[in-house]
Amino acid sequence: MKSVIDFWNLKVIEVPDDYKLCTVCGHYKHKHSYGKINEEKKFIPTRTNCEDCYNLSTEKFNKVKENKKEYFKSKPVKDFIKKIERKQTLLEESISVEEMIKELKKLPKGSRLVMTQDGYYAEGDLAYIHKPEKFTEVDGTTIFNIGNSSQNY
Ligand SMILES: [Zn+2]
Repeated sequence: MKSVIDFWNLKVIEVPDDYKLCTVCGHYKHKHSYGKINEEKKFIPTRTNCEDCYNLSTEKFNKVKENKKEYFKSKPVKDFIKKIERKQTLLEESISVEEMIKELKKLPKGSRLVMTQDGYYAEGDLAYIHKPEKFTEVDGTTIFNIGNSSQNY
């Protein structure tokens, strides 16, 4: 099973690994819906639209395609995509607590942490966080940097 976005119901769903997204109706269907079985009983993918869409009349096919296009321009769908992208950003721009604790335990006793910054304008709301890197030393105490916020313009 794999996690995919069900745009019609605006949620993440699980589908079997061999399911594919139809480029016309926007539904997930088994891969066999996207091609044909040849004489050697081997599946050959031949198109990106599912069998149901493939069998529609040209008029209905175009209507399904147009409906999907309009739907994807709607606010709920746009908001949902924004939410998914936000989740992805949070996961990519963060570091796991376990990993950070492991790294922090390696630092000399009594050392301190800072996060640096520069620039003026922020593109996003998150500063970059990373494993501790030696920043400077003050009166024999080592100060490590664990992140930076760079807001250049
Ligand atoms: Zn389809």
